[in-house]
Amino acid sequence: MSMPPMPVDTSILPSLKEDLAARPRQLFINGEFVDAQSGETFDVIDPATGKVFAQSAAGDAADVDAAVKAARKRFDSGAWSGMPPARRARIMTKLADLIEANASRIALTETLDNGMPLMMGYFGGVMAASETLRYNAGWATKINGETFTPSHPGEFHAYTSREPVGVVGGIVPWNFPFVMGVAKMAQALAAGCTIVLKPAEQTPLSTAILGELVAEAGFPEGAVNIVTGFGKTAGAALVEHPLVDKISFTGSTVTGKQIVHACTGNLKRVTLELGGKSPVIIFADADLSKAIPSAAMGIFGNAGQVCAAGSRLFVHESVRDEVLAGIAGIAKSLKVGSGLDPATQMGPLVSDAQFARVTGYIESALAEGASIHTGGEKASVEGSEGGYFIQPTVLTDTRPGMKAVEEEIFGPVLSTMTFGDDDLETVAAAANNTQYGLNASVFTRNIYNGLKMAKRIRSGMVNINGAGGGPDPAMPLGGFKQSGWGRENGRAGVEAFTEIKSVTVNLNE
Ligand code: ADP
Repeated sequence: MSMPPMPVDTSILPSLKEDLAARPRQLFINGEFVDAQSGETFDVIDPATGKVFAQSAAGDAADVDAAVKAARKRFDSGAWSGMPPARRARIMTKLADLIEANASRIALTETLDNGMPLMMGYFGGVMAASETLRYNAGWATKINGETFTPSHPGEFHAYTSREPVGVVGGIVPWNFPFVMGVAKMAQALAAGCTIVLKPAEQTPLSTAILGELVAEAGFPEGAVNIVTGFGKTAGAALVEHPLVDKISFTGSTVTGKQIVHACTGNLKRVTLELGGKSPVIIFADADLSKAIPSAAMGIFGNAGQVCAAGSRLFVHESVRDEVLAGIAGIAKSLKVGSGLDPATQMGPLVSDAQFARVTGYIESALAEGASIHTGGEKASVEGSEGGYFIQPTVLTDTRPGMKAVEEEIFGPVLSTMTFGDDDLETVAAAANNTQYGLNASVFTRNIYNGLKMAKRIRSGMVNINGAGGGPDPAMPLGGFKQSGWGRENGRAGVEAFTEIKSVTVNLNE
């Protein structure tokens, strides 16, 4: 695989590390950087070394309360929601420009914090974030209602308008911290909402840079607030806060369910982008030169810590051996290492807890009768002995009912199943045999079968012959079944931050 030239200026790394070690990152509330009211901070660990390299403010209920009140005040003042949409769009695009101008700092921070390869931090983090801001800035001027003709006797003018839902709590996970935070913020802001963003405790650092850039871009104070802290304290306080109108959550299905319960107090609107166990279906007639690398990178990319990862492979038995050999070949050739090493293609898992979880699933699969086709062990990386590295892993002899086949692992572990007949209903039923319904990939040269499978698979996203990259801000993203509620991105994503108002005007004098 040839790599494009490194776009990140790595010469700033020593000063960035020094700065991170020198002072804890703060909360960003009402346009100002502040410590947690308790004065508490928590350690941030570099997953490539297992060592603490920074601290972040441990925000809790008191800080969330201050941030929510700032967002509430700003929303109720109309200073953001009432600003002409074109001006809102300009401020959002200014933020996109600032993000690009700070690309190296953000990408390096993301890699230190999450472990992802620097190229991914740059393209999948920084550039994807500026794209989503630009895309959603465009929606600020395009959110509209409809007109209707009521069936009552007489003459009426009736229309709907879309109004911002209000104060949003955005809760994001650790796998793509920067772009996920920015995407939630961009959609909420385009709709006219104000937001309190809570990054994951494993990866709080890149959003601190976001706070700086938000301040510089010219948003009214309190329109965007960032509270770092733990899920059980800061996250829980945000979902329970009576002045929050909507929670937009991305994370695990287990936490998503807790959030639904916690939101009942004031019946907050809730959108959930949760887990997946997405099928990758390779038919006998597939172009294997496309299918094999797509299937491999669909599970090994970002060390499998991707909600839409293709973690269940269904391959036609006539091409099984070739496909497995191809995926195993990629698994063995992938350079596993620190994300800062420009040669690295797969970084570490995010934390020791995640390492334990992923290895636990591999062990349970073996105990239930699965075999390891390739990988399965801790990966040794010279100079990074304390890092949470795992080998890209392919399991065979896996079948429905095994824990590793049923549950989301969130690691670079592929389960493989074969099918022998070409009956689409049978193949689709096997693919649909999961509590999840986020993503699916189908590889075939027969476009009829590809499209028929797209109809039969119950998931929020389907790609035929490869998705071609990460999520596109224009394409709705979300899941059927226990993969979530609602959609992010596209028109649907922005509209999820609005309420519809129906207005009827009686013209009968
Ligand atoms: P993981 O289990 O991989 O850490 P989670 O879904 O628990 O993933 O975490 C995603 C985000 O949800 C993080 O920002 C985390 O702090 C937050 N979170 C965790 N538990 C809660 C909770 N009970 N209420 C609100 N937010 C939470």
